Amino acid sequence: MDRHSPFSYRCGACGRCCHNQVIALSPAELLALARASGIATGVARARYTERRGSLLRFRTDGGCAALEGVRCSIHPGRPLACRIYPLGLERTPDGDRFIRLEPAQGSAGRYGVEGIVGDYLTDQGVDELLGMAERYRPLIAAMRDKIETLVDFDKIEPREFWRHATAEALRESNFDANRLIDALFDPDGVGAARASIEATIAAHLPILHAMIASATDPAKLAAAAILLAVSLGYSPAEAIRFPTEQQDRLK
Ligand code: SF4
Repeated sequence: MDRHSPFSYRCGACGRCCHNQVIALSPAELLALARASGIATGVARARYTERRGSLLRFRTDGGCAALEGVRCSIHPGRPLACRIYPLGLERTPDGDRFIRLEPAQGSAGRYGVEGIVGDYLTDQGVDELLGMAERYRPLIAAMRDKIETLVDFDKIEPREFWRHATAEALRESNFDANRLIDALFDPDGVGAARASIEATIAAHLPILHAMIASATDPAKLAAAAILLAVSLGYSPAEAIRFPTEQQDRLK
């Protein structure tokens, strides 16, 4: 489906879809969630997330950490996946595609074709939040560029380097300390706290660029690049760059 495809959905407010999901969070989404809750990003990360802030946390009973009864307690700051639901978003080099997800068991939601996908997304505030999330994407290229200044890929096997970085980025526990990842998912904690989400992002990005410029550990940069790419809805490949001759061989 694309933005012009027929689609409508009426939420039944049953809370069924707020159980047992895997929902990635980008830095902007975590920030929106924190501002909607009136708490600092570090508190929001501890209360509502796992995997260093990049995943929404679900309780052992299956319910989202933000679910109170059948009500979303952070509704104005809910993540993109919750706004887009019951559609799924696929980010491809050719543009965004949407898939219709199966309803949660017992869902009171009602599917229809009275509108189009694009109007549904606008009603849910998707484009505004997606735009804020995308402002972090240039950091991935900045990290890749910095890595190339720090690693001699004639001596270090690139595939092994990136394989290790991917495993480290997606580790759910026992991961290495990583100041850059901490800073990505805690703008308030690194001095970027402002009243609005926009102003916080504007203060956050230069801090992150400065941290990348002064970084000395390529493994930590690579893990941060991959985690950021995945949190923005891209595959790890978005962050990975091989030396030119290897890249040519992969084509
Ligand atoms: S953030 Fe809100 S809408 Fe999203 S899964 Fe949690 S309770 Fe449901």
